Amino acid sequence: MNAPMRLVVAHLYPDEMNIYGDLGNIVALSRRIQWRGHEVDVQPVQIGKPFDFSAADILFGGGGQDRGQLLIERDLVARGEELRHQATAGLPMLVVCGLYQLFGHGFRTGAGTDIEGVGIFGATTVAGSQRMIGNITVQSRFGRLVGFENHSGQTVLEPGQQPLGRVEKGFGNDPSRQFEGAVSNNVIGTYLHGPILPKSPALADHLILQAAQRRYGVTDLEPLDNTLELAAARSAAARPRRSR
Ligand code: GLN
Repeated sequence: MNAPMRLVVAHLYPDEMNIYGDLGNIVALSRRIQWRGHEVDVQPVQIGKPFDFSAADILFGGGGQDRGQLLIERDLVARGEELRHQATAGLPMLVVCGLYQLFGHGFRTGAGTDIEGVGIFGATTVAGSQRMIGNITVQSRFGRLVGFENHSGQTVLEPGQQPLGRVEKGFGNDPSRQFEGAVSNNVIGTYLHGPILPKSPALADHLILQAAQRRYGVTDLEPLDNTLELAAARSAAARPRRSR
């Protein structure tokens, strides 16, 4: 047993960037911390409100419509230097879809509007004519990741930018390559909604362990019974790519 810890989870723009069950990632992180007897404090990062990222142990940001991305653009870019600094310093972060795109260099919407990103990932996203919608499974170093994708943006990684994994079923970053997501330091970007973490306990625990290591020097986490989580992942992975 580790001594009791208190971990702060920063939630980027919960009002504007939060679709297709992304909030479930906050629930999964919180429960997995609490089930181990530790304390979690979820703090929203909101437009125009100061936030001290050095107090955060994990940062999560979800997806959103193009409109949501436009609403947060200026605020996010204003926090860019601080976020890049935290990324380099090793803060564990998970960003999904709309915020994954804006953790790269930016996103050009179908209407031709350029939305600026913070450049943590060497990745650029441009909307294609076809929306990429459906169930998706990905092989990654955290095992098989299972989720649901719905995006117009096609993300191209720069040479040297590591992807999160390889698409088994679905589209991922773009339809012409098999890459999904991006990883830089402890920052993970992905298109997987659904949400991803309740069905991917290894990824959830990776984020929690990095956080616990940085703040408390902890080297392993108390094991949890993942029977239900893995059954949910298997059942989701067995779904066809598109449901009727
Ligand atoms: N608006 C972006 C796109 O369509 C992101 C969508 C999302 O977060 N699901 O590509």
